[in-house]
Amino acid sequence: MENYIVSARKYRPRTFDTVVGQEALTTTLKNAVSTGRLAHAYLFCGPRGVGKTTCARIFAKAINCMNPGPGGEPCDQCESCRSFNENRSFNIVELDAASNNSVEDIRTLIEQAQMPPQVGKYKVFIIDEVHMLSAGAFNAFLKTLEEPPAHDIFILATTEKHKLLPTILSRCQIYDFKRMEVPDIVGHLKYVAQDAGVTYEEEALNVIAQKADGGMRDALSIFDQVVGYSGGNVTYRKVIEDLNVLDYEYYFSLTDSLLRADVPAALLTFNEILGKGFNGQHFISGLAAHFRDLLVSRDASTLPLLDVAESVRKRYSEQATRCKPRFLMQALRICNDCDLQYRTAGNKRLLVEIALIRTAQLNEPADEEPGCGLGPAQPLKSMNLAAAPAVQQSQEPAPQPTIHAPASQATATPQSVATSQPAAPSRLRTLSITATPGQQAAPSASTSQPQKQYGNKPFTVADLRLAWREFIETLPQEQRAMAERMKGMEPVAEGDVMTAPAEVVVENKLVLDQLNALKAQLLAFLRGRLDNAAVDIRFRVREADEKHRAFSQKEKFDAMLAKSEPLRHLRESLQLELA
Ligand SMILES: [Zn+2]
Repeated sequence: MENYIVSARKYRPRTFDTVVGQEALTTTLKNAVSTGRLAHAYLFCGPRGVGKTTCARIFAKAINCMNPGPGGEPCDQCESCRSFNENRSFNIVELDAASNNSVEDIRTLIEQAQMPPQVGKYKVFIIDEVHMLSAGAFNAFLKTLEEPPAHDIFILATTEKHKLLPTILSRCQIYDFKRMEVPDIVGHLKYVAQDAGVTYEEEALNVIAQKADGGMRDALSIFDQVVGYSGGNVTYRKVIEDLNVLDYEYYFSLTDSLLRADVPAALLTFNEILGKGFNGQHFISGLAAHFRDLLVSRDASTLPLLDVAESVRKRYSEQATRCKPRFLMQALRICNDCDLQYRTAGNKRLLVEIALIRTAQLNEPADEEPGCGLGPAQPLKSMNLAAAPAVQQSQEPAPQPTIHAPASQATATPQSVATSQPAAPSRLRTLSITATPGQQAAPSASTSQPQKQYGNKPFTVADLRLAWREFIETLPQEQRAMAERMKGMEPVAEGDVMTAPAEVVVENKLVLDQLNALKAQLLAFLRGRLDNAAVDIRFRVREADEKHRAFSQKEKFDAMLAKSEPLRHLRESLQLELA
């Protein structure tokens, strides 16, 4: 696996037809090219990593192509196309507004826009993350957007369309890129795997595609990561181990237990899952997803909504035939309630266990002994139900999940139980391996270590790195994959590490989420180890390598001149020119 080129770069599409999952949109763009009916401003919206910048680049190449194909594709052979492919075209300027959002940055761009292209027909300006431009920069840009020079085309890209001013929106042709579907991503990963000589199991690629959440760039990055981890043989086992995905086998067997109303078996399975280091909320939302998959498996018309590999489909439809739709809907509601209450629940483990018990009881015969307070149709309101046993033992059909009491009522149970035994800490690990956005955000970190006082001892980046490696050693066996990954990372500090957070750059959003989930635990360790309360680390996803902001030496030089007064003087006094 040496010389392995990052797949997102190696397999970046060069023509419209090789863009995955955006057919409607690329067809429209091709038509615009072949009919020559071009707008001066386009807005490409959509989530990250779905091909906005890629399409913008292909579009720029196509409208400058000397021999465009009949369908509007660039020929990919002519001098102009080649200069685009080799990143040396003068007709494309990219500005990443996330980091270049000042009036000055936009002025530089506008100046470039005034000059007509020396070769080719159009200059194309791609402004990425355009919503990040400052108000002043927006205003400066608006004038150019109102009366663009005939040779200019602006392509604005954003993940957050709602943040753009109506004045911008009204001047652009708007294209909404959609999240890619799992089968599209899997199809492309198969192609990449075959091309790169990587062996794979289809289920494995499915897990990767699901983890990528509709973004091809993330999917390829995760794929690369797994290829590295698995030594070029991408199996389902390796993938779930590396990505800390809970094996679907658990959900199948758990559902079987629930269908048998076998509460002990269900609780033991949950216990085993916790023992593997998975967090309860991750588990319960996964269980909800499993029920949802079973539900869509029951009907041929909804079967396409099932995003699993062909080999697993049969198992879903087999299990689905044994579940009544009503059971699945009620179970979904119970899991969903549990998920919603999870963050605020005092005893999180108990909350999940109650959800499992309630789900199991959906399958109990209706004439269970009264008085247990956990009757089938009973939405389990509070523990003192025992005092007023099963008053509402109604057999209402409850077809709609929303009929039952709002979530707040059921919340009372786990909290009141928790307060009655305040000394018992939640047995659930506070550490979540798997991404649960925002769940273990840094600010709450201090609350899990309330009494701990850290000192103010000086430390260096080297000390921090040493402590980072020591932390990795403390990670349990279940987090081996994460530990291995962290060994390849290192905190860096631009300035004084004691006053500004150190930074750790990661490859993709998935790793970012995993690290953020570990952050509270990590910081507590580092602060204790270095005896300094100010220790802080920030995680960030590596910028896409493809950003090249100023596109020629000349323009880089001009940009520098614009920023540096002394340099300008020097040039004028010595009459320097860039060779
Ligand atoms: Zn061409």
